[in-house]
Amino acid sequence: MSENSVKVAVNASVNSVLSALAENNHEQVLFCQDAATGLKSIIAIHDTTLGPAVGGTRMWTYASEAEALNDALRLSRGMTYKNALAGLNIGGGKAVIIGDARKDKTEAMMRRYGRFVNSLGGKYITAEDVGVGTRDMEWVHLETEHVVGLPDYMGGGGDPSPVTAYGVYMAMKASQKKVSGSDSLKGKKIAVQGIGHVGEYLVAHLVKEGAEVTVTDIYEDRLNHVVKTYGVKAVSPDKIYDVPMDIYSPCALGATVNPETLAKLTCSIICGAANNQLQNEARDGEAVMKAGILYAPDFMANAGGIINCYWEIVGYNRDASMAQAEQIYQTAERIFALSSQENIPTYLAANRLAEQRIQQLGEIKKKF
Ligand code: NAD
Repeated sequence: MSENSVKVAVNASVNSVLSALAENNHEQVLFCQDAATGLKSIIAIHDTTLGPAVGGTRMWTYASEAEALNDALRLSRGMTYKNALAGLNIGGGKAVIIGDARKDKTEAMMRRYGRFVNSLGGKYITAEDVGVGTRDMEWVHLETEHVVGLPDYMGGGGDPSPVTAYGVYMAMKASQKKVSGSDSLKGKKIAVQGIGHVGEYLVAHLVKEGAEVTVTDIYEDRLNHVVKTYGVKAVSPDKIYDVPMDIYSPCALGATVNPETLAKLTCSIICGAANNQLQNEARDGEAVMKAGILYAPDFMANAGGIINCYWEIVGYNRDASMAQAEQIYQTAERIFALSSQENIPTYLAANRLAEQRIQQLGEIKKKF
């Protein structure tokens, strides 16, 4: 390739990259590559008005670099909203590593990645995400201090799932209060999809309060364990949308709220831990509202995980972390009030409250 053609190619893509950043006002994107380790990574910093950008690192077999960039931009923006809404003093960021997490990952690659994270001097703080586990984070951590979500033996906050589950439980109680005037879940029929880390802790809270819980999971041993321990009912994964229920709690996968499932669901509340529950935010957010179902926005309800990470940054304390997760109840109430007042879907009301906080705190930071 001649020097000229290299310049043309670079110019063409740089133009579209900067436009993509401008679209949602991303602050900075760091492209990282290292031929020796095969690392190809993109670190996206969306907004640091409230503090350093915090969000996980995802490793995925992206079909193209454009797809990887889009994912990094989309996910980092999502973290800005989630972190702001949870009342945390951190901004939004996210990183992606292009590759197959099972085949391509090596210690050298992860440590090289850690050095890139370190080069940002704390402006971006990373954590685990899809395709990146505790062992990988140990490697990253050897090269940088700017890592959260570490196990307790490494000085981190340990498993965030109990905090996440407690936050979901709070969001569910606030939802019940909005729907019926009382936040008691006693006697409520609740369908929990996915009884992994978060799902099981959530079931424990619900059973303790006297709810009638039905669970499902793709793993028989998980089902047997939870049925035996908590005395709940179980159904196969394909039957969960058909059980009689007051509350549907997705705690496994994303995109389970869509036209097909909405045709079956008889609940009055959707509240769970899974990320990206609405298959299409605009379409399904509106459809849920029209169906008279109260949707507790996922990034509000499952903020316990990031709350736990936040406390690692400021000095870990599990009690403080739980106390902050409890505040999700009040956040949910504010979202539901705004949604009713403006007649807008709850996810939009949540976005507005997050934007308001960033805007207001951005203003006061300009003043002495
Ligand atoms: P997990 O992997 O421990 O549990 C998920 C469970 O869902 C597993 O038991 C799995 O077998 C089951 N499952 C998968 N597909 C299913 C299906 N089609 N039907 C029924 N069950 C199915 O994960 P987790 O840590 O409990 O997290 C649950 C969800 O909450 C995920 O979407 C995760 O991204 C989100 N989340 C978790 C945290 C956290 O603190 N762990 C924080 C925020 C968000």
